[in-house]
Amino acid sequence: MSAYTVVDHEYDVVVVGAGGAGLRATFGMVQQGFKTACITKVFPTRSHTVAAQGGIAASLGNIGEDNWQWHMYDTVKGSDWLGDQDAIEYMCREAVPAIRELEHAGVPFSRTPEGKIYQRPFGGHMRDFGAAPVQRACAAADRTGHAILHTLYSQSLKYKAEFFIEYFGIDLIMDESGCRGVIAIDMATGTIHRFKAQMTVLATGGYGRSYFSCTSAHTCTGDGNAMAMRAGLPTQDMEFVQFHPTGIYGAGVLITEGSRGEGGYLTNSEGERFMERYAPTAKDLASRDVVSRSMTMEIREGRGVGPEKDHIFLHLEHLGADVLHKRLPGITESAKVFAGVDATKAPIPVLPTVHYNMGGVPTNYMGEVIKPTAANPDATIPGLMAIGENACVSVHGANRLGANSLLDLVVFGRAAALRCRDILKKGEKQKPLAKDSADFALSRLDRIRNANGDTPTSVIRKNMQRTMQTDAAVFRTSKTLKEGIAKIAQIAPTLSNLKIADRSLVFNTDLVEALELENLMACALATIHGAEARHESRGAHAHEDFPNRDDENCLKHTVAYVDDKWNVKLDYRPVHKYTLTNEIEYIKPKARVY
Ligand SMILES: Cc1cc2nc3c(=O)[nH]c(=O)nc-3n(C[C@H](O)[C@H](O)[C@H](O)COP(=O)(O)OP(=O)(O)OC[C@H]3O[C@@H](n4cnc5c(N)ncnc54)[C@H](O)[C@@H]3O)c2cc1C
Repeated sequence: MSAYTVVDHEYDVVVVGAGGAGLRATFGMVQQGFKTACITKVFPTRSHTVAAQGGIAASLGNIGEDNWQWHMYDTVKGSDWLGDQDAIEYMCREAVPAIRELEHAGVPFSRTPEGKIYQRPFGGHMRDFGAAPVQRACAAADRTGHAILHTLYSQSLKYKAEFFIEYFGIDLIMDESGCRGVIAIDMATGTIHRFKAQMTVLATGGYGRSYFSCTSAHTCTGDGNAMAMRAGLPTQDMEFVQFHPTGIYGAGVLITEGSRGEGGYLTNSEGERFMERYAPTAKDLASRDVVSRSMTMEIREGRGVGPEKDHIFLHLEHLGADVLHKRLPGITESAKVFAGVDATKAPIPVLPTVHYNMGGVPTNYMGEVIKPTAANPDATIPGLMAIGENACVSVHGANRLGANSLLDLVVFGRAAALRCRDILKKGEKQKPLAKDSADFALSRLDRIRNANGDTPTSVIRKNMQRTMQTDAAVFRTSKTLKEGIAKIAQIAPTLSNLKIADRSLVFNTDLVEALELENLMACALATIHGAEARHESRGAHAHEDFPNRDDENCLKHTVAYVDDKWNVKLDYRPVHKYTLTNEIEYIKPKARVY
């Protein structure tokens, strides 16, 4: 290992990731006066959060009456009752102060004529416990994530957070006391950096790239999930993968749900607004799993559009050029660039596309990572937190409502900082790390850098992505899932036959992509095994052999462990069937009707 130069750092807190979650946590930590490092593999404002278009949910009630109880009800219902209701209560209540803070920090939200934050309708957001749609998604045109990310980055800099940009986190440093920090490589120079910290916060985002077609950035490779699993910690509910109804056909690029919020609608080859049949009340604004499945049903039954009858039309042309220009400028441009369609004149061809991972590292509502034990299903690991799409709090349960992810980022990024305020001491002396504390990460790095097999990363990645896309899709069957498991079991070990062409340490993207592929593979395994074992249909997990939800046997969180030989071990932990305060009662499971 002497080939590598190791530079040591000591911080109160190290945050891995500079998307909305990582930056909100970093901002909160430095505001509390903690010496904080934020390491990120891409420039902060290039994180996937920048692509979030439609909005961030909060019951501000700026356009029609609203309250956090209704928001909570919708989130629980959207989650198909798999969400933990203590955490959901926390998120929906804290949404209001968290958005006000963003406003005061300078996020340039769109405004109503009276100057209040503009709010648009989004799928699954209703008033009066499901009675009718409500305008709850706070928006900055269709560039809400962009606006939030830039503001949080500026604020973090103002409070002197220290950024390590284009540093790639390889693995956590663990010892008998818990998590002690993280090892990262400076991609520009190949120097290794050992970050020792009282608290390490994982905020590395989702793993959409384990599928062939997804709306997420190429950087969404589940690095934090895999770091946790390599440290012997579980991931939770990974089988719940959200397909967004409106990815642009062929390109996968997202057309925000906000477009249907503004009045857009879907049609099949007969020109029928088919969502009226599947969801008579919410129609095109039913929750995403419902709309994605309805679209897939239409296509399967021969009512898809286009020469192959394999997609659906999204109509915005009736909204008029003015509204599109003012409220939806970004997607109007995307439609032109990626589908060659002028959305003011013609419908956009769309198809359900992988969009969001409900699963991730299990945490409590304060961001602390959970490793269940026989005695305590909620036992936490000292020194480690996870937030954002990397985490499974679980506020989204089996299906996330639109505009609830940006909310999750800021509420739990903030909660992590508030928890650190309560449990850490600024500048407290930390005991030394073991001499071999970098060895685990370095041996992995070294093995991959010198990999001398004959299969390039791109080939293994494509095999994995194709398998996930085919065998763990919108609809699943025992047969496809079993076949998928068998295929991935063949594909994962081919990583030991990896071919790396570049042995250098300077901007070695060949090496970084291989590290990312290992991370994606661990996530793919947890996903498909969890799906095969869940014998019911719930939220985004639509199992054709088990078409009904089974609350008696399956109302539980899957926890998955993946070892270094790619073996998967599944276990379960109870869903929190209680709320945080006595101001609202536990919302009991019932059928989901939209
Ligand atoms: C196209 C699109 C539109 C969306 N629109 C909305 C919306 O309108 N409303 C809504 O609520 N949600 C939306 N979502 C979902 C939401 O945007 C994401 O869930 C959310 O942005 C994830 O944020 P994050 O901070 O968890 O991760 P990300 O924004 O993905 O950031 C991850 C960070 O981790 C860093 N990182 C990753 N791995 C490493 C590593 N190994 N070492 C160092 N750094 C690392 C990256 O550099 C990056 O800074 C959308 C998602 C997509 C893809």
